Amino acid sequence: MLGSFNLIAEQSLDDTSTPHDFLERLLEKELIQKEDNRIQRWIQQARFPTLKTLEGFDFPFQPSINKKHIYDLASCRFIESTENVIFLGPPGVGKTHLSIALGLEAINKGFEVKFLTLENFINAVEKLINNQQAPQRLLSSLLGPDLLILDEVDIYQTDINASNLLFEILYKRHERNSTVFTSNKPFSEWNKLFGSQTRAEMILDRITHHAHIVSIEGDSYRLKDKLEKLNKKES
Ligand code: ADP
Ligand code: MG
Repeated sequence: MLGSFNLIAEQSLDDTSTPHDFLERLLEKELIQKEDNRIQRWIQQARFPTLKTLEGFDFPFQPSINKKHIYDLASCRFIESTENVIFLGPPGVGKTHLSIALGLEAINKGFEVKFLTLENFINAVEKLINNQQAPQRLLSSLLGPDLLILDEVDIYQTDINASNLLFEILYKRHERNSTVFTSNKPFSEWNKLFGSQTRAEMILDRITHHAHIVSIEGDSYRLKDKLEKLNKKES
């Protein structure tokens, strides 16, 4: 409020502005600033590897993606109904890009988001075990957020500690809050993450029960970028 006081006071010096208008403008500015600060703070807390938006996504390049479906997900109704989103497809087709973009939309709408790759998770668990620390803090940091983005669920052979913890997190998040997964492996290979077939089935059953599955089939965008650069050099 202090930062905008002089400017708004000057703007309110015309004949038609009442003290009520002045105060309203000042309060409005304060609210907008507060909301901007919250969004910035929550983006930091989410720990996205980079920021990507839906506006920056080239939908015509990836025709197997239904743009309307993605924009529907961006409304974040899936978070309100504690549903999951699963992006499947080969490397470079935009799975991580879209998951970050959905994460940003969620933060804008007031949902708390946490992003991590399966590899980050496994490393975090390993570090705790090596330091003989309890996983309680890690557990609550991954159970709390309205939206957890678990990126690159591509590693099969997971250490038993990480596997148990992942099981617990996904089991508890079910029906409580939402998770976005990205993977370049079909579900038939996710078994290896959870140690046994039974546990894998229990989790997969829950994850996919209320899930929007976005299967992307197409060319890698990374390759497109590289080919374009090569073509430019040659011409
Ligand atoms: P994936 O997670 O499927 O391996 P990424 O989302 O990491 O792929 O995409 C690789 C790179 O290409 C990223 O920089 C991403 O922003 C970009 N990218 C992928 N698909 C598109 C697209 N359709 N439009 C714009 N950028 C894209
Ligand atoms: Mg990715």
